Amino acid sequence: MSDVKRGREFLHTPGPTNIPHRVLNAMHQPAVDFAAPPFFNMARGCFEDMKPIFKTQGPVFIYAASGHGAWEAALTNTLSPGDHILLPETGNFSLKWGMMAESLGLVIEHLPGDWRHAIDPDAVEQHLREDREGRIRAVLMIHVDTATGIISDVPAVRRAIDNANHGTLLMVDTIASLATVDFQMDAWGVDVALAAAQKGLMCPPGLGFTACSEKALRAGQSARLPRNYWDWRERMSEEQYIRFCGTAPEHLIFALREALNMLAEEGLPAIFARHHRLASAVRQAVEVWASEGGMAFNAVVPAQRANSVTAIRVPAGFDGEAVRSLSRERFQVSLGGGLDRLRGDVFRIGHMGDLNDPMILGALAGVEATLQALKIPHGRGGVTAAIDYLVAH
Ligand SMILES: *Cc1c(COP(=O)(O)O)cnc(C)c1O
Repeated sequence: MSDVKRGREFLHTPGPTNIPHRVLNAMHQPAVDFAAPPFFNMARGCFEDMKPIFKTQGPVFIYAASGHGAWEAALTNTLSPGDHILLPETGNFSLKWGMMAESLGLVIEHLPGDWRHAIDPDAVEQHLREDREGRIRAVLMIHVDTATGIISDVPAVRRAIDNANHGTLLMVDTIASLATVDFQMDAWGVDVALAAAQKGLMCPPGLGFTACSEKALRAGQSARLPRNYWDWRERMSEEQYIRFCGTAPEHLIFALREALNMLAEEGLPAIFARHHRLASAVRQAVEVWASEGGMAFNAVVPAQRANSVTAIRVPAGFDGEAVRSLSRERFQVSLGGGLDRLRGDVFRIGHMGDLNDPMILGALAGVEATLQALKIPHGRGGVTAAIDYLVAH
């Protein structure tokens, strides 16, 4: 085979995701005067139109930043040095957010997890009940932990906090869940929700978002962690240059505008249904692969398997990283690898954002070909099972 590659690359990393041509084309224009009405109004519309995506009436802040920036914004805007936070561990992303919090001077109380199960709300409740002095100021949860392919139940964690009669803030990382599965910031009593552009929102990497409740804003009034770039109070300004703490990332805003148009056209219920259907097709394939030879879903409980990404364990003695590299180099399907302690044990198929049936089938076919090429024991016919599912649903 020649080294020259033709045809389309299949991007199934769980971020960044495929950027639709409409979004790409929206960026192809000259820079503009950010203070003049056309851009000013466009940006203002984006701030407004992010609210129904989070399902909140509260303010949304947009940063030129990765998701990590949104993490830092959430923490520094609400907390003070020495504050305790409760970290129910679901995988690599909860761990990394916690490490960031620690580096900022916060004290982490860990709720250990095995990276194969969702957050246990009873454990959260129990831990909060034992915090009689109310030292814990925030619970940090990841809605979909992209490293493990597991979704945790936000309303259940809210109920756990309420049952414990605890005043902590609830912060939810929706980076890998927003616009793929339902999220209701206000109805679910979430105080800070954060997201990034390059996953369900179908945009280029480079924008981070935080949405916040009144309670979170109030906490911000007395929060003493140093902050400047991230500061919500500054960013409440009507002046564009202050709102973005500098020059607006204009082209990313052009992209976001078009992506928001696309999300509105399809509608959130249809978007969630599409993600569920495509994810189900992936799961059908994995069921077949796992039916013999030792492959398995990383998420043990079926109801906890996320609609945005599937993490698949390879049998003992095989290397998930080999799956990832052969699939990319030979079959032109880019997958996610195992992160941190899952490295080598899993590979991940991202299925969020701008995707349709043949794209999913193409990715599954690439994976199945890779399994066969690497002689990884697996049940044959995963792609056929996915086709059967898609035809029937
Ligand atoms: C991708 C991801 C992040 C990190 O986002 P970056 O833009 O890479 O900083 C954090 N949390 C979750 C759940 C993610 O999926």
